[in-house]
Amino acid sequence: MDNHVNNAREVIFLDPVCSHNIWGGSRLGEEFGYGVEGSDIGECWGISAHPNGDGTVRGGAYDGKKLSELWSGHPELFGNLQYDRYPLLTKIIDAQDDLSIQVHPDDDYAQKNENGSLGKTECWYIMDCAENGTLVAGHNARSREELSRMVEEGRWKELIREIPIKKGDFIQIEPGTVHAIKAHTLILETQQNSDITYRLYDYDRVQANGKKRELHIQKSLDVITVDGEEQPNVVSTCGLPENVLNQIYSCEKYDIFKLTVNKEAVIDQKYPFLAASVLEGEGQIDGSPLGKGDHFIVPAGYGELRISGNMSLILSTVEE
Ligand code: ZN
Repeated sequence: MDNHVNNAREVIFLDPVCSHNIWGGSRLGEEFGYGVEGSDIGECWGISAHPNGDGTVRGGAYDGKKLSELWSGHPELFGNLQYDRYPLLTKIIDAQDDLSIQVHPDDDYAQKNENGSLGKTECWYIMDCAENGTLVAGHNARSREELSRMVEEGRWKELIREIPIKKGDFIQIEPGTVHAIKAHTLILETQQNSDITYRLYDYDRVQANGKKRELHIQKSLDVITVDGEEQPNVVSTCGLPENVLNQIYSCEKYDIFKLTVNKEAVIDQKYPFLAASVLEGEGQIDGSPLGKGDHFIVPAGYGELRISGNMSLILSTVEE
């Protein structure tokens, strides 16, 4: 039973779900205050209603509810959107080692081959990286035949496309794009609500148990796109105006914004919802304390939102 009246004027804070990964580090526990111990914390699912990591509301009228429950029980908070589940998943990923090189299916392929799952379009905002850091995005095969041959012959160095990155860069990763984060990179990932990944190459690494991690070569080859010319690239988001919602990307799956608060920002929450993550700094949001590592949702109909302090945030929403 839900005895609470709907209060559209309430910011909904979420407690994230963190995971241990062999390539993870200690930053999410130590710098972001998620209360998880270990030097192998790889992912913080900050705003997630996925069964593999369903976030919990912290405080307020919906305290203790899972985000998936909020979505199904209170569609009005999300503008009564015509989606069958909360459409996005926002993560912070701390890679202290190279991640395996992978690719995701699109909605059609996942629907048919992965028990009705959504496909996975994703995008990354680079929160921090090594000097002369790089990431893997795209490949150098010019045809499907060449792609299969290079994979079969293990010509990974030739095949994999690596590009330089800097803090503040943004990149869109379409389904079918070969991609990977390299060691010492911290990113905020916004993606479709899906957990389907095909591992193409794992640098021939052997785990502690003496075995290599499973690869999904056939499924990878099924979904990898061969475009030849159109390769994914990073865009810098540095130098955007402060205290306004800067749209840095828009596609049919999501809209992404960057907000840098310097003293005070007043935002018109006119979207079905705004999912937000604080990457740096601290301050207040309509009277409540807000700081680095906080994840929250501003519901539909909220109207004017006042954020003060010094902070950098990434926000997302979907189109109605
Ligand atoms: Zn991915």
